[in-house]
Amino acid sequence: MFRTRWVGFTAAALLAASALPALSQAPAGVTLFEGARLIVGDGSAPIENSAFVVTENRITAVGRRGAVNVPPGTPRVDITGKTVIPALVDDHVHMGYRRGTSFTADNYTRENLLDMLDRYAFYGIAAVLETGTGRGDLPYKVRAEVRTGTRYLTTGSGFGMPNAGPGGAMRDSAYGVTNEADARKDVQELAAHKADMVKIWVDDRAGTVEKLTPDLYRAIIDEAHKHNMRVMAHTTELADAKALLRAGLDGFAHMVRDKEIDAEFLALVKERPNVFFLETLWGERRAIYGGKPGWLDDPTLREAFSTEDLKQLGEQLAGEPNANPQAVQRARTMAETNLRNTAKLYAAGGRIGLGTDTGGVSGGQFFGLGSHVELELLVTRVGLTPMQALVVGTKTSAENLGLSDLGTIAPGKSADFIVLDANPLDNIANTRRINRVYLRGQEIPRGALSAKWNAKG
Ligand SMILES: [Zn+2]
Repeated sequence: MFRTRWVGFTAAALLAASALPALSQAPAGVTLFEGARLIVGDGSAPIENSAFVVTENRITAVGRRGAVNVPPGTPRVDITGKTVIPALVDDHVHMGYRRGTSFTADNYTRENLLDMLDRYAFYGIAAVLETGTGRGDLPYKVRAEVRTGTRYLTTGSGFGMPNAGPGGAMRDSAYGVTNEADARKDVQELAAHKADMVKIWVDDRAGTVEKLTPDLYRAIIDEAHKHNMRVMAHTTELADAKALLRAGLDGFAHMVRDKEIDAEFLALVKERPNVFFLETLWGERRAIYGGKPGWLDDPTLREAFSTEDLKQLGEQLAGEPNANPQAVQRARTMAETNLRNTAKLYAAGGRIGLGTDTGGVSGGQFFGLGSHVELELLVTRVGLTPMQALVVGTKTSAENLGLSDLGTIAPGKSADFIVLDANPLDNIANTRRINRVYLRGQEIPRGALSAKWNAKG
């Protein structure tokens, strides 16, 4: 246990190890967790008074307490009264640029990437996809090095017209393309790095930049598919979304929010059932909340965020006082359309996923927290049941990234789960009442991480 990445927590690790029962009679690396309500993640009824076995980094048995056989002497962890859910997966984040309240490319360092992964791990996020704003080779190097905690997937650099891709401090990270040959060459570079997907921006940002043209995105999609890579798009308008579906796009980083999705759109989605749609509800929180939500007073937020972080978040949610009222109204209307379209698409059988934009222009520095709040918004504002939202945030979001060993708690799956103090089926906000997090079979040292962050202020 506690290999490689937790080298900074040797003392805590030794304490944890010495607290375990003697391992002499049992096979090494086997632990039985028993007594919890277990939510598998596939939508099936929870297993009350469950038992499950973790062997090294895998789940090896799941059942009712007393019905799962383990060798005598196997260490047992009694989690009676708790609820266990699979660790979440966030399909749309931006790594590296945020550090506290600062947002700059200078923050894009190995140290900061690792810190962000720790922040996701703290909140029980098993995997994240960095969408289009990687800088140079660093994301691939860090991806290769990380063997514990949150899995780091990256699309490397994304595609836009020159100087017309991502926003803010991330703008220069994308490939700016003007012809098909260059676009194909850049896709080949991503393929050589084994990028986990390809990201494109198809958005004129309210007429302020040039939108990636159909001939260019068709070439990018074609070349990516030749290399067995899928393509996801930042796009927000219905007409573009239809054209991209026809061009063979594999996923949407945002929901259509300029217009109500129509029968033609739903028919296109029906032909392509694996195409996924992310909603970035967290990223649009300013337009969704009309004031400070009660959860802002949750004292556990101080475990991961500074006073300055939380002050900024409070101001964002209260509505910035100097904002242009027309712009505020426009954002509100688009957010309402997003929520309605998400409900309509889900009801029609569309594949939606958790994708928050955390770390980006609108997502801010609220790594992990944003994923849980987006899950809550899927219930309170889109109308999913807590169970449906949990399936979206676990199984479906893992499938969207091709991570077949994540998203459910079943034999053979990676041992990535969250132990909760309260039942999220009663109130989806209970996914934030985290007791412990295990990723790849190892408990995340949440207390030590929190102490480190708080020591830094
Ligand atoms: Zn984004």
